Amino acid sequence: MTHDLEALRREVRSFLATEAPSGWRDASRTQDDFVRTQRDWFGKLVRAGYAIPHWPADYPGGGRSLAEQKVIYEELAGADCPRLLLSFVSTYHAFATLHECGNAGQKARYLPKILEGETWCQGFSEPGAGSDLAAIRTRAERKGDVYVINGQKVWSTMAQFADKCLLLARTSADGVKQAGITYLLMDMKAPGVTIRPIHQIQGDEEFAEIFLDNVEIPVSERVGEEGKGWAVAQATLASERGLTLMELSYRMRGALGRVAGLIREHGHSEDRGVLRDFGVLVTQVDAVCAIADQFLDNRIKGIEHMGDASIVKNAYSRALRAYSAFGLRLGGMDEQYVAPITFGDLNTGNWMADFMNSYAWTIAGGSEEVQRNIIAERMLDMPREPKGWVL
Ligand SMILES: Cc1cc2nc3c(=O)[nH]c(=O)nc-3n(C[C@H](O)[C@H](O)[C@H](O)COP(=O)(O)OP(=O)(O)OC[C@H]3O[C@@H](n4cnc5c(N)ncnc54)[C@H](O)[C@@H]3O)c2cc1C
Repeated sequence: MTHDLEALRREVRSFLATEAPSGWRDASRTQDDFVRTQRDWFGKLVRAGYAIPHWPADYPGGGRSLAEQKVIYEELAGADCPRLLLSFVSTYHAFATLHECGNAGQKARYLPKILEGETWCQGFSEPGAGSDLAAIRTRAERKGDVYVINGQKVWSTMAQFADKCLLLARTSADGVKQAGITYLLMDMKAPGVTIRPIHQIQGDEEFAEIFLDNVEIPVSERVGEEGKGWAVAQATLASERGLTLMELSYRMRGALGRVAGLIREHGHSEDRGVLRDFGVLVTQVDAVCAIADQFLDNRIKGIEHMGDASIVKNAYSRALRAYSAFGLRLGGMDEQYVAPITFGDLNTGNWMADFMNSYAWTIAGGSEEVQRNIIAERMLDMPREPKGWVL
């Protein structure tokens, strides 16, 4: 699809001028308000053709070039509308996994439903398996046409609202840890699934634990072959460390206007120290956007070096901390209270919430330390860490 980028920009802008939700940062909003706003906003973006620009052209709103995607993300970021927290696992992770590794039936069954509002969560981490994801212990035992699942998942973002789950389970304990893992698509309403939201210190319930007690998953819901789920999981993780970060980086750049507003409001317009630090921040955020752009440009051309995604991830999380810490510093005591419900959003209108949420990004999608290990070992060819710590 060829498009005049400026025409597209005008089109998105005029859509946002009338359709972008307002009041979504209202501190008194409840969980139900949050869910309603998220679902309505996603529906509007789907109908307008801006929710899934990275999907293929077979889907309405898909088939956009990278240049077009950037225009859409830039405009969404600039318009100050909510991030799609309820559906990003569906439109990024579930899409990438099914598109790259799912069979024709799975794609036909699930991808259109995402556009109708079906939401997915990611059931990878467990109490004893995070950085060392291959250590998962949730068992999947084949019995005829079904797998019977027993175990526990943790830190599953928005799992309490999800219809489906991207699940990693162990079908064999033989050989290397990675070899016995199988990738399954689980119905969150299946008998034996218990979801317990995790209540966070600032009042949010952004994640949930998922308990699995003899849950039956049809064999037809397996992605790839039995025992080959580790390779499929890489498609999910690559989406988490690639496209998601491009959108987030653009949102951070879009939010720099809020920081500039704060400089004026708090009388720092003549303060050379503050202006210098703001200049450093703007440069840092621009650099992250450029790194994310380059990563995706390369990926579209089929170029990806081990460690590239880790560089994007760490550059983003470092800039995010600098951005929110700067906002907190400028706002003074007014900014020190915490808004009750943010669901891990990063441009909440409350600097303390943004500052606290920024630390989640040192862990989410693979911790900073582990990303550094990947860069050191697989990109710079430095010695591997001793056995027992292997990712
Ligand atoms: C905001 C957020 C959203 C998330 N969403 C999901 C989700 O939807 N689904 C899901 O499955 N999981 C999710 N997670 C979980 C996330 O993937 C894990 O928290 C992460 O992989 C780290 O695992 P862990 O918490 O078990 O920490 P651990 O692996 O126990 O790590 C603890 C500390 O040890 C360090 N460490 C561990 N291994 C090494 C090593 N080899 N070298 C050096 N340092 C090391 C880590 O960097 C970290 O500082 C989410 C986490 C966050 C913060």
